[in-house]
Amino acid sequence: MHGFDADTEALGEAILMYAEKRMRLHPVPLDGPKTFDELQAVAGNTITAEGMGGLAALKLFGDQLAKACLSNDHPRYLSFIPCAPTEAAAMFDLVVGASGIYAGSWLEGAGAVFAENAALRWIADLAGLPPEAGGVFVPGGTIGNFWALVAARTAARARHTASGSTGPRPTKVAAQMGAHSSILSACEVMDAELVGVRSDEHQRLNGDNLRTILETEGPDTFFAVVATAGTTNFGIVDDLASVAEVCREYGIWFHVDGAYGGAGLAAPSVRRLYAGIEHADSFIVDPHKWLFAPFDCCALLYREPALARAAHTQKASYLDVLTDAEWNPTDYSIGLTRRARGLPLWFSLATYGTAAYTAAIERTLEVTRFAEAEIARRPYLEALREADLSVVVFRRLGWEADDYQAWSDELLREELAFVVPTSHEGETVARFAIVNPTTTEDDITAILDTMA
Ligand SMILES: *Cc1c(COP(=O)(O)O)cnc(C)c1O
Repeated sequence: MHGFDADTEALGEAILMYAEKRMRLHPVPLDGPKTFDELQAVAGNTITAEGMGGLAALKLFGDQLAKACLSNDHPRYLSFIPCAPTEAAAMFDLVVGASGIYAGSWLEGAGAVFAENAALRWIADLAGLPPEAGGVFVPGGTIGNFWALVAARTAARARHTASGSTGPRPTKVAAQMGAHSSILSACEVMDAELVGVRSDEHQRLNGDNLRTILETEGPDTFFAVVATAGTTNFGIVDDLASVAEVCREYGIWFHVDGAYGGAGLAAPSVRRLYAGIEHADSFIVDPHKWLFAPFDCCALLYREPALARAAHTQKASYLDVLTDAEWNPTDYSIGLTRRARGLPLWFSLATYGTAAYTAAIERTLEVTRFAEAEIARRPYLEALREADLSVVVFRRLGWEADDYQAWSDELLREELAFVVPTSHEGETVARFAIVNPTTTEDDITAILDTMA
């Protein structure tokens, strides 16, 4: 089981060939879900005392199990937020798996942490965060938001204690209604209260509406404000500059959730939308969304990493050897053991250069603009709003919820596209999220044609 014998060598070749073949397919098959009974019928009991052998298990995976998983990197996968890793990033994931790296501490993973931090630095510089900013790659935006809010609360409690205040400690978070569901989840787990702020006429959180809520509820009751840089459903970027100003004025932690939209920082055509992000106390972006890294990868950055360390560092005698290191990623989120999940992004950035990232993101924005123009041109379609980023939400005139669902089901059954409907103010509508640079104008036209 351990040791590199002839069987292992044959398996190694087969695995590398499988991975290469999968990457060469363009487009990859879209595939789709099967029921438990269907899978049980073709796969049976896969885990036995004797084992089936690697080649057989690989064949079973390729022939049956992989086909029951949607290809998120398919150019016509436009639901949720797709994942479209670069070839270099996807390939390097194999290297990370083969390398036996513990990336929780500098002592054990210095080289990996050094490289991950270079990738974090690139993101921090895009946002205009100060040189001392830093953080860690965590599994996803949900976890990134959560740990940023925990750090915010710890910082607020420390200030509360230091001030000698006898009043209650701050327990609230403010965000607009369009903020991601993970913000509410985090608040529930933290037993904090999420206070919704009315958005402006562009569905953005802005400073004026935030100030009204803070004044009504009492600014001292809040430990964080969450602004979204690219809402998931519409791609809306909040008015970060005015929100940042109000946060500074009241001394409240300013967190920016850019899980999807943060990547737009690298695109000059939309960079102006992010003005004010440089004031963030914490910021997240998921490279597995629009920065072409494989699952699962969220960059979590803090303006003052010491405040996050105060919240997240674990203390145990067996960990004493780790203290005073250059940088222990484990100090910046919950969890001791971590995979070097930032390395595929780092390798891809090092391979292609950041200009290629800018070009790829701009390309997706170009295809988005094309989709908007096509929707405007077709009398049976209507956009709900102009896209800030690369999400387009639109209605098919005359369709009800069932029509959208039947259309979506049929697209997937034909393996033509994966486009699930969404809803807005109770109305079922269609939505494209375009983050895959291999999605073309022809893909958009082909899908819209099916709605005629
Ligand atoms: C996707 C998303 C999240 C959650 O990220 P996961 O990586 O799926 O956990 C949070 N916020 C926004 C704005 C998102 O788009």
